[in-house]
Amino acid sequence: SAMLDRIETVEPQIGSFITVAPEQALADAAAADRRIAAKDIDLLTGIPLALKDIFLTEGIRTTCGSKILNNFVPPYSATSFEKLKQAGAVLLGKLNQDEFAMGSSNESSAYGCTRNPWDQTRIPGGSSGGSAAAIAARQATATLGTDTGGSIRQPASHCGCVGLKPTYGRVSRYGVIAYASSLDQVGPLTRDVTDSAIMLAAVAGHDPKDSTSVDVAVPDYLAALTGTIKGLRIGLPKEYYIAGLDADVQSAMNSAIETYRRLGAEFVDISLPHTDYAVATYYLIATAEASSNLARYDGVRFGHRTENADNLLEMYCKSRSEGFGAEVKRRIMLGTYALSAGYYDAYYVKAQKVRTLIMRDFIQAFEGVDVILTPVAPTPAFRIGEKTNDPLQMYLSDIFTIPVNLAGTCGISVPAGFSADGLPIGLQLIGKPFGEETILRAAHAFE
Ligand code: GLN
Repeated sequence: SAMLDRIETVEPQIGSFITVAPEQALADAAAADRRIAAKDIDLLTGIPLALKDIFLTEGIRTTCGSKILNNFVPPYSATSFEKLKQAGAVLLGKLNQDEFAMGSSNESSAYGCTRNPWDQTRIPGGSSGGSAAAIAARQATATLGTDTGGSIRQPASHCGCVGLKPTYGRVSRYGVIAYASSLDQVGPLTRDVTDSAIMLAAVAGHDPKDSTSVDVAVPDYLAALTGTIKGLRIGLPKEYYIAGLDADVQSAMNSAIETYRRLGAEFVDISLPHTDYAVATYYLIATAEASSNLARYDGVRFGHRTENADNLLEMYCKSRSEGFGAEVKRRIMLGTYALSAGYYDAYYVKAQKVRTLIMRDFIQAFEGVDVILTPVAPTPAFRIGEKTNDPLQMYLSDIFTIPVNLAGTCGISVPAGFSADGLPIGLQLIGKPFGEETILRAAHAFE
């Protein structure tokens, strides 16, 4: 109830939520009280959480930031949400995001742009911008987001919180609205690394309902936070520390390197030679998969249906034209083009080949290092409206996070100081596949 009051107080300024669910929250809290009275306590029992509006929540409206799902109330819940419920967590509501998770700023949401709590003229990042802003504005103790090309790590960096993208297959995607299925992963946004470890432990693991979730034992992530990283080998990829990197970001990285050196880490210069191709590769694969995933929104089975159509084809076209926003339409067109006969080999197949090369870059790099340290985003949070007319500029803001999704491995964003004008800056630690324990340990030692 204190958390609901807090949400009400700051919502008019921040706008993190699409749907606040006070009845659900109070019912969950009462159930948690009963569990606590019965001494049936989990680390998350009674903890107030909120979810990006991409997670299906039975009986609670789920829009994915889109007008096309404005009236959609799902009949079942995502596995990750089910797991949190079983642990006794309290659901406060559903958080704002870019429409269908397409974006880096929250500006593509059909429900308005969430504002960055550190400076309300700036974007919170995206696409899980509401999830990051809610943590920074203390509207929830922890949140879940999804990360297809940086959507957990980049908003965490811009809002000064911790964001973890697990290895592909670590967390079930069942009941998470699909954007680009070979890249999407679920992960936590939290105030600190300990909370991140607790949340990951709660949602990780194999799920028979998601065949891409991997049957690898879930380690004790809390036990991994030993506080020491002596002898840890940290790679610095030369392709990420380019001239022209924002001066504030560069100096935050320099001092992070100093801190790690003091903590006993060793630094190794490495190369990820195909970095230059990552953004282009990502936008071919992501849009191709999105164009196919979004074909289901046809006005027939669920979501928005046009009021005025004379025949079936017109009904499909008008429902989709009215329901989707500009960025989603742009991506569907790009993806459909890349998959079309005659262009498929030149674009989609080529992109898959380059993806393999990027994956190999990481495998090779990890032969000599335990983790890789990079910036999360090339600049601190930009101003609302600053990049809306230039999609390419917007796409480039994920340059340091996208390769991790293409390689399918894990990464964490941790607060690493502030810019000259007081905006949070994050650092990224990239780990080996299923190396979440190591990046959590390294992040914990730093914070
Ligand atoms: N900004 C990237 C995109 O628009 C990443 C989004 C995401 O990770 N969901 O595709």
